[in-house]
Amino acid sequence: MRKVSLLIIFLFGFCKLSSQVNFTASLGNADKKIIFHIDESSIKIKSNTNYLWIFGDGETSTEKQPTHLYKKAGTYTICLQINDKKQVCKENVFTVTETGLKVKYVNDFIWPSGSISKVDSPFSYRIKADGKTFDFHRALDIVGEIGDDIKAVADGKVYKSFGSTLVVKHKMDTPMFINNKVTDLYYTMSLHLNERYVEKGETVKKGDVIAAVGEIGSRNYPHNHFEIRVGSYYSKVYLEKAKNSNKADKNTNINPKTGNFIDPQVNPLLFLDNTDNEKNSLKYSVSKKGTILFVKVISNYLEDYFNEIVIKHSSETEKEETLKLNFNTRQGLPYLSEKEKGDLSSNSNNSDYDYQDLTDNFDIHPIKFKYRNKKDYQIIFSFKILQFNPKNGDYILVKDIFGNVAKEVKSDF
Ligand SMILES: [Zn+2]
Repeated sequence: MRKVSLLIIFLFGFCKLSSQVNFTASLGNADKKIIFHIDESSIKIKSNTNYLWIFGDGETSTEKQPTHLYKKAGTYTICLQINDKKQVCKENVFTVTETGLKVKYVNDFIWPSGSISKVDSPFSYRIKADGKTFDFHRALDIVGEIGDDIKAVADGKVYKSFGSTLVVKHKMDTPMFINNKVTDLYYTMSLHLNERYVEKGETVKKGDVIAAVGEIGSRNYPHNHFEIRVGSYYSKVYLEKAKNSNKADKNTNINPKTGNFIDPQVNPLLFLDNTDNEKNSLKYSVSKKGTILFVKVISNYLEDYFNEIVIKHSSETEKEETLKLNFNTRQGLPYLSEKEKGDLSSNSNNSDYDYQDLTDNFDIHPIKFKYRNKKDYQIIFSFKILQFNPKNGDYILVKDIFGNVAKEVKSDF
């Protein structure tokens, strides 16, 4: 009897803890308009639920999913009260910049190895080893020496540990709004390992040494290929192949039957703290030939920070359109498709992908990349846009990861 009541107390306490409402924010279509989202897995939403959002600038809202425009840049403490219960506040999580929003998803996230100065191949388009084709590298390659420590970036549980690969599953402190969903699940993954020190199912604490840098399967030098996958471990290609099997991850929030698959990798710099490196070296230039608008993005050394292009233009039908390409989460970018038929089990490898699937009105021509000690980076985007007239309010914005807007410069194409 006593055992049962203890169990009930324990369960009650646990439920109480896990029922604290969690929330996040994302940018709306018009820049700077911030939309707040409740993580509905953190609380039961009933039809008579009352909301009170306190935005930290003196304004409030009672909507379930409010949109708010901050008049000043800054870091705001944002609170949510549900049904007159205790307020849940987030301090130092949401920073509004001149042009956007930065969210701290994990408190005190640490670098797994090295630092930003050791990043050799960023989360971006890059020329492949053949010097001709290119792919989208969905990771950071952090250069190191064989045997260097790789640490757990946050508390978590080992999800996969095999060969030269290690994957740890974690929860975010503040969930991410991605692919029209709110999710707090993420995976960190390191490849080319020389050694693994933990096995599947083990619990790891932030800072634990979990593996050693190696060069197994890498192109030519030791590095930690570090990925962050959000919402699901499985890649688009894997899920497409697994559609008719039961191989998909039961923890994923993506239904393998729907076929609506999205690659889960995001730029690890969204999570890693780079406050010492908030420089803005980005520039861009524009040229127009007929109906094609060319945008060249130029960076001296921080191509890792190139994040987003927004083009507001008028379409064929005179309707206003805003084209948004986001590089951190690959929203709006065309997908890469598989070059060769790979083994279903080797779904984690990026190198089998080639750029394809060009749409009628969008193309990408990378012309220079940072690659092993090269400091410059240029990438040309071409857009088939019939009407682009700045006098009518049309505009282009090129932004870095912090929301800073790049300067427009004159440049030859
Ligand atoms: Zn890599």
